[in-house]
Amino acid sequence: MNIHQYYPVDVVNGPGTRCTLFVAGCEHECPGCYNQRTWRLNSGVPFTIEMEEQLINDLNDRRIPRQGLSLSGGDPLHPANVPDVLRLVRRVRRACPGKDIWLWTGYTLAELSEAQRKVVAELDVLVDGKFIQALKDAKLIWRGSSNQVIHYLRKAD
Ligand code: SF4
Repeated sequence: MNIHQYYPVDVVNGPGTRCTLFVAGCEHECPGCYNQRTWRLNSGVPFTIEMEEQLINDLNDRRIPRQGLSLSGGDPLHPANVPDVLRLVRRVRRACPGKDIWLWTGYTLAELSEAQRKVVAELDVLVDGKFIQALKDAKLIWRGSSNQVIHYLRKAD
């Protein structure tokens, strides 16, 4: 899997202070997409094991407490990204107890494949749906257009 950006301390993409990873690859081609340079799967740089170790260490760093991990892009549920994202979210679940995981995808929850649903099973929150320019609303929080839905998948611990 390739990524475009990793923010070890982020207060914009999700609630609280977070680690945020923007992956490469998206097949939705939404008009007005804010991040077109992430569409190609081979854009960006490879997500290495060293980066993964850093991410785990950052999530567990007590000097700057993180609420959790945000996965965006691109699309973390692009079929080509699913195996690596599944491995990553399962590792975060094991190695970073108490941290929440948010994920943004252009697919809707209803249309996800079995493989994509395995990732969703590890999430706290899924924000789904394409960005639709006609439904854009700057007042919305955590989403760009009003068709997108914030699915809270787990009760608070
Ligand atoms: S799903 Fe997101 S990254 Fe993909 S084209 Fe739409 S707005 Fe852009």
